[in-house]
Amino acid sequence: MTVCNQLAGWSEFVEFARSRCTHAAFENWLAPIQLVSESDSEVVLQVPNVFVQEYLLENYGEDLRAFVPVDQSGKAAIRFVVQAPSKKATVIEVPSKNVLETPLVEPLYALKLNPHYTFENFIEGASNQFVKSAAFGVAQRPGRSYNPLFIHGGVGLGKTHLLHAIGYHAQKHHKRLKVHCITTEAFINDLVDSLKNKSVDKMKKFYRSLDVLLVDDIQFLQNRLNFEEEFCNTFEALINQSKQIVITSDKSPAQLKLSDRMIARMEWGLVAQVGVPDLETRVAILQHKAELKGLKLSQSVAFFIAEHIYSNVRQLEGAINRLSAQSRLLNAEINEEMVEKTLKEMIKQPLNRKVSVEHILKAVAAVFQVRVSDLKGTARNKEVALPRQVAMFLAKEMVHEPLMILGASFGKTHSTLLHACKNIEKKLASDETLLRQVEMVRRHIEKEG
Ligand code: ADP
Ligand code: MG
Repeated sequence: MTVCNQLAGWSEFVEFARSRCTHAAFENWLAPIQLVSESDSEVVLQVPNVFVQEYLLENYGEDLRAFVPVDQSGKAAIRFVVQAPSKKATVIEVPSKNVLETPLVEPLYALKLNPHYTFENFIEGASNQFVKSAAFGVAQRPGRSYNPLFIHGGVGLGKTHLLHAIGYHAQKHHKRLKVHCITTEAFINDLVDSLKNKSVDKMKKFYRSLDVLLVDDIQFLQNRLNFEEEFCNTFEALINQSKQIVITSDKSPAQLKLSDRMIARMEWGLVAQVGVPDLETRVAILQHKAELKGLKLSQSVAFFIAEHIYSNVRQLEGAINRLSAQSRLLNAEINEEMVEKTLKEMIKQPLNRKVSVEHILKAVAAVFQVRVSDLKGTARNKEVALPRQVAMFLAKEMVHEPLMILGASFGKTHSTLLHACKNIEKKLASDETLLRQVEMVRRHIEKEG
């Protein structure tokens, strides 16, 4: 990966956006945008109407700043010219560049793989080691290790990243395999279209000819009964021929509101969860993302950011993008003041306040209706044992102290602490109530301090 300071430019953004959305969304909203000019200070775009402009800014306002110049307020510096497309318009064509070495099979609604979502760019930590190695195993031996591989976890924790990494790796190392990556929404669109065009057979044939099918965000299949059946049929046809299927979801199979048949199928292979990365991993992710952007980030600044943004990797990335835009704008290195200002806008929470074990204990006690002294005690009844483990789990995630010291503040060894964290992670995968309680504790901590 080359590290550079240059802006990637509009055409790179188009490729980025193409890999992020469905074919239909791309064609409807992004393809009609024409590049008029591009300079160091602004980009001029021609849009057919103001809705397209709004769509772009609403959905990609944040991302765009990594590709095009930013203005003084840190926003993407784009000037829009609204003009209905005319065939003779003098516009510069957006070059359609193929970002992958090997072109993938590209049927209707193919979701292109994001070339940055590779295994090399995926930072490992305790929260995602297992799922990463499962994903890597599948990419190396499609159809011959875990099948299906079901990846689930919260928003912005790397599910799509891993899915694309599998596709990219599999395609690169097994050139003859037909790999297809699709969002569930696109699968449904595909089916709707082929029903309209009376080409369902063609579609079925296509899906059944695949060697690797990667399906993102299966939760969108919930409450779509007709589509669920077709998906299930495709699924079985492929699995029966030992073709690889990988599915991502924001919930575990059992939590999805899908038919028993479908749930059972998804549990056939391996179910793996991506968890929330701990502090060290968040720091490593920040450093990696900064490096990719050619940004210098000191260890203390990285820790400062990671201490304040802890539940979502996409937000960490957002922080890096903002800082990179700022430092470019001011032509200055990133300093504490800049970080503080940027973070303040991103998280509505007082800064400079480190979360301590005491904060966590207080918040856990409030949410679970137990006493702080019980949490610190040794009673093993379930009413206090579970909240105590939650406190340890959150302490590991939020408090910047070595595990030994964290363990000690609970009167436990560091291995007991690790055990507690694992247990909570496992429970969170299937226990929605607990998930909500933990979220509540996090909010409490943010509010109360
Ligand atoms: P999800 O699909 O789970 O909502 P994504 O895969 O879209 O999340 O990840 C959000 C962003 O965070 C992506 O840009 C991705 O590259 C990045 N990301 C997530 N996890 C990691 C990781 N472990 N290492 C590096 N980048 C990560
Ligand atoms: Mg995703």
